Amino acid sequence: MEGPISNECFDVINPANGEVVSKAAAGHEGDTQEAIEASYAAFQDWAATPATKRAEILIRIYQLMLERQKELAQTISLEMGKPLKQAMGEVKNAADYVLWNAEEGKRIYGKTMQASEENKRLKVIQQPVGPVGAITPWNFPLAMVTRKLSPALAAGCTVVLKPAEQTPGSAVQFFKLAEEAGIPKGVLNLVTGNPAKIGDALLSDKRIRKIAFTGSTAVGKHLLKNAAEQVKRVSMELGGHAPLIVFEDADLEQAVTNILRAKFFNSGQTCISPNRIYVQESVKEEFLTLFKEKVEGLKVGNGLEDDVDLGPVVNKAGLEKAIEHVEDAVRNGANLIYGGNECKVTGCENGYFYSPTILSDVDEAMLISHQETFGPVASIFTFDDELEVVNKANNTDYGLAAYIFTQNLSRSVRVSEGLEYGMVGINDTVLAQVQGPFGGMKESGMGREGGPDGLADFLETKFISTII
Ligand code: ADP
Repeated sequence: MEGPISNECFDVINPANGEVVSKAAAGHEGDTQEAIEASYAAFQDWAATPATKRAEILIRIYQLMLERQKELAQTISLEMGKPLKQAMGEVKNAADYVLWNAEEGKRIYGKTMQASEENKRLKVIQQPVGPVGAITPWNFPLAMVTRKLSPALAAGCTVVLKPAEQTPGSAVQFFKLAEEAGIPKGVLNLVTGNPAKIGDALLSDKRIRKIAFTGSTAVGKHLLKNAAEQVKRVSMELGGHAPLIVFEDADLEQAVTNILRAKFFNSGQTCISPNRIYVQESVKEEFLTLFKEKVEGLKVGNGLEDDVDLGPVVNKAGLEKAIEHVEDAVRNGANLIYGGNECKVTGCENGYFYSPTILSDVDEAMLISHQETFGPVASIFTFDDELEVVNKANNTDYGLAAYIFTQNLSRSVRVSEGLEYGMVGINDTVLAQVQGPFGGMKESGMGREGGPDGLADFLETKFISTII
């Protein structure tokens, strides 16, 4: 590991108490250019390394991640606040992507075709796209890294990673263990620091052949526009505004248990968090009673303490957004069923804590119904019939995740096919699974992470026609 050219650093802050956790290297264009140079120099050899050998290194990375699970989880929790138990789960999930891609990388197949002439032979091979620029967010600081790096490495690509400025620590630890696992020099390169400068250096350099990004739709659009200059390949996992529909024929206990997890996990800071919970009018009261009972049992606190369900939100801006959305909704007629306030946590007076909150009677005119809150606020809408709710659910520029709760098989098929979303959970809210293609439609992005599609996004298709 080398330091930044300028020797400058920036502070990484713990959102639970406002204290400085560590200092990270403040990288700029020059550091990024060096990293690109290294990734380019290492590419040919890594691409030519047999997939089985690449898999051995990836499996060793997987093992080291599990050995250091607690250490990695503590860093995640310290830097962005999530409860340690959830951070442990994230490290396991992040490691599972590495293992899955290690295995899948051995199964990159080509094709042959029947030619129209006797003396022709036609085949298709798959090759790595080249050096990749990866840019990741703070909400899953490690899983978002391995979801990009492990398929890239398995495919034979080299990488320059820029993690989020709020959460560089677990990426630094990951790079150290990857080095220990035997990743050759130059295959993985890390630059922390100024987002725009590092991003622009990645975009403007022709040696970077693909940008893999997870983050806001606004930054995604900026990257897309600039990637178009060189027609760089992109995969973009952007914002979401997930609808979750509870039909009157749902198992309400099952729905409530799942919603509790999906909405308040990571303090609501996930791009697939249900932002609009549509409950059929006939079961609204029963649903709200059950849901409130469960939400009352949630504990807010410092993520490193035992039994905490919700840590702080990531920073002041995150807290202010939750406050603004709740105030706007209440001012415009929503009912505050539970929460709706900042929380004071003893020993963490400077932390950004917001209570788990339930709003009912939310409607389309309110900010919360079309902006991503990225906080622990559950907004409940009501509806009368199926067609109406599918139209309402689709009435957004986003198209990442949607959920339905119903015991009616035909309805589950009809509605899941009618929803314009990249992922649909039926009586299920856990969508980030190593085998499955995670990603969105419309302004939620393009490309997929996970499963065979995730690996395919780092491969080029080459057609070879031969006259013999
Ligand atoms: P959020 O609002 O959740 O922080 P962002 O889209 O701002 O989402 O951040 C996601 C990632 O994009 C982070 O690594 C961040 O540093 C990076 N980023 C932000 N602005 C730019 C930019 N102009 N160019 C490249 N990367 C950027």
